[in-house]
Amino acid sequence: MIYRQHYVVLAMLVLLSVATLLLLAGCPAPEVKEDSPVPPSTTVYITSIGRKKYHQADCPALRKGNIPITIQDAKSLGYTPCKICKAPD
Ligand SMILES: [Zn+2]
Repeated sequence: MIYRQHYVVLAMLVLLSVATLLLLAGCPAPEVKEDSPVPPSTTVYITSIGRKKYHQADCPALRKGNIPITIQDAKSLGYTPCKICKAPD
């Protein structure tokens, strides 16, 4: 009998945990995945002409003469992330 009661409590705890998880999963979580910190030494690419945007290496907006630079330097020079290639912020 004692064992059975113990089992019921345990089952309820498991159900509660599952319900909590389901609730959490059901909530439309705000997209905060992009908040993961980008190392300042990440290499991005800038162009010597055009707007002050920095890019990822495979960005279609990059034309010839792209210059590799760390994201830290790009930012300190006033560059902002390109929206086409979704360069890290
Ligand atoms: Zn780009």
